Amino acid sequence: MNLKLISSLFLGLFLILNLQAQPVKKHGNLSVKGTQLTDEHGNATVLNGISYGWHNWWPRFYNKESVKWLATDWKCSAVRAAMGIEPNGGYISKPDWSKEKIEAVIDGAIESDIYVLIDWHSHGLKLAEAKVFFAEMATKYGKNPHVIYELYNEPVKDSWQQVKDYSIELIKTIRAIDPDNVILVGSPHWDQDIHLVADDPIVGFSNIMYTCHFYAGTHGKSLRDRCDYAIKKGCPIFISESAGMEASGNGPINYTEWQNWIDWCESNKISLISWSIADKNETCSMLTPKASSEGNWKEADMKESGIKTRELLRKQAEKSN
Ligand code: MG
Repeated sequence: MNLKLISSLFLGLFLILNLQAQPVKKHGNLSVKGTQLTDEHGNATVLNGISYGWHNWWPRFYNKESVKWLATDWKCSAVRAAMGIEPNGGYISKPDWSKEKIEAVIDGAIESDIYVLIDWHSHGLKLAEAKVFFAEMATKYGKNPHVIYELYNEPVKDSWQQVKDYSIELIKTIRAIDPDNVILVGSPHWDQDIHLVADDPIVGFSNIMYTCHFYAGTHGKSLRDRCDYAIKKGCPIFISESAGMEASGNGPINYTEWQNWIDWCESNKISLISWSIADKNETCSMLTPKASSEGNWKEADMKESGIKTRELLRKQAEKSN
């Protein structure tokens, strides 16, 4: 081999390795084509990553260093900053402190070149407050390809009509400032009733997706059937929260059903975010109380769900490259 050939091989290898670690450099601005999340080059794109736990209860993990660890060691292409709204210490009672925490994760994601979901982690409608918040986020971050807005974590009692009206108001607010970044809309009844959304979707706006959440110990084939129905009707789905145990966040991990969901997401090219970075004594919290706040987690710092989710993410990253 001549020197020129060797050097171009090295350059090629360098570029491939470089792109592997930099999802946003690789995919750029995201959009929604039909039901598919799509990158700047027109390719179907899947994001896989981790949700932080409620910022009001686990603020210690909301920092750039932990984002960097999730990007580099766990191979996340996205993280979700879950800004608690109603509880003590949430956005309603401590707006400035809450934004500081959320922005640490957003800024960390931008630095680590991964996507980030700005999640209004609420279970009830708070339109006026959400409008102020998302207008601020769109103004500050709307030019960044990294950012995805999630308008309403999990509606509980609201009808789809109520969630739809709320979402349209927020979409108008965001679109007046940021014309293009992807917006995620919640589905009624803990993000389960995606079939109701599919029967009466929001029209007239681009780059909108709808969230479905699953906990594999509780939700199986019947929820996937609903999702299949929704996709057939043209409804773009994003799984912004999920895990292997029961919907309470506790109980044993149902590995068979969890794998069914992972396979389903893979074959339908659907993005998958797992819950959560927290150290509570429950199955879904991935870390132990001894785990550092800034990443660098060893196996002893992770609980079963953390170890298994990290394995999953590393496999998914390998396949997507
Ligand atoms: Mg934009």
